[in-house]
Amino acid sequence: MNELNCVIMQAIQVSPIMKIIRVKPIDWELPRYEAGQFVALALPASASRCAESTDDHTEYAPDKLIKRAYSIASSSTQEYVEFYITLVHSGSLTPRIFALNIGDKIWMGKKAVGMFTLSEIANDQNVVLIATGTGVAPYMSMFRSNALARTGKMLVIHGAANSWDLGYSSELTLLESMFPNFTYYPTITEPKKEPAGWSGDVRFIQDIWEDDVVEKKWGFKPNAENTHVFLCGNPNMTNGMTEALEKEGFKEHKKRELGQIHVEKF
Ligand SMILES: Cc1cc2nc3c(=O)[nH]c(=O)nc-3n(C[C@H](O)[C@H](O)[C@H](O)COP(=O)(O)OP(=O)(O)OC[C@H]3O[C@@H](n4cnc5c(N)ncnc54)[C@H](O)[C@@H]3O)c2cc1C
Repeated sequence: MNELNCVIMQAIQVSPIMKIIRVKPIDWELPRYEAGQFVALALPASASRCAESTDDHTEYAPDKLIKRAYSIASSSTQEYVEFYITLVHSGSLTPRIFALNIGDKIWMGKKAVGMFTLSEIANDQNVVLIATGTGVAPYMSMFRSNALARTGKMLVIHGAANSWDLGYSSELTLLESMFPNFTYYPTITEPKKEPAGWSGDVRFIQDIWEDDVVEKKWGFKPNAENTHVFLCGNPNMTNGMTEALEKEGFKEHKKRELGQIHVEKF
């Protein structure tokens, strides 16, 4: 049950605190899942922590499996599963994941879950997908699955501290050049640290929304009738944006209550 059931087949250090890993189940297949869903990853407490970490804030028995939820970033049709993970220096699981190398083993839950998907949204509805940091992961899974076949407009706003923390920016820039209904809008909050400068936006996501950047890009104002908004990542962003959107008449999407604000808090 607690056996490490996957192998790390790729590990890419995106920045000092961000890593993309690809894991492949050993002799089993992850059942069908929808782009946007998440799964549990785990390692035993006896696994080593990476050199950059600080002390774990919790004590565990050595054989205790430390489990956390991670959004899937890969296409739902691949035989491997990709994750985009931020290092929490004092965290319990991420310092152990950051110490892993290609060929090492990790535990993955055998079922992906979650309602943070495009499945209930009509094909011609417009979608704004907003993320901070690794919150862009579920959107990558959507674009790498079938989201780009949608007829409605799609706009990604991705916020991070620095440009090197904007994982997947090359892929998103390429998608923008290939798909006329797709827009990529990155923003960073620490432009003074950029050695090569930064010509893009430097505002917080809420200020970008309130400045009607989406309307400027699309030529019409997104509203609760024509647009769904996805929010993923830091709870300060998801809470602030939810409040701003509710003032404009958007409603949070719940299991039995259809709404246009879809939230995944990390
Ligand atoms: C549905 C869902 C999907 C998620 N998907 C992802 C994902 O794709 N990628 C990802 O990196 N994380 C994701 N997370 C967060 C993940 O589950 C862990 O909480 C995170 O990796 C920290 O785990 P840890 O054991 O290292 O830290 P813990 O020992 O759990 O310590 C967490 C402490 O650090 C804080 N913390 C948590 N996350 C961060 C952060 N990113 N930066 C700074 N402080 C933080 C918490 O508030 C808490 O105080 C997701 C969470 C949920 C609920």
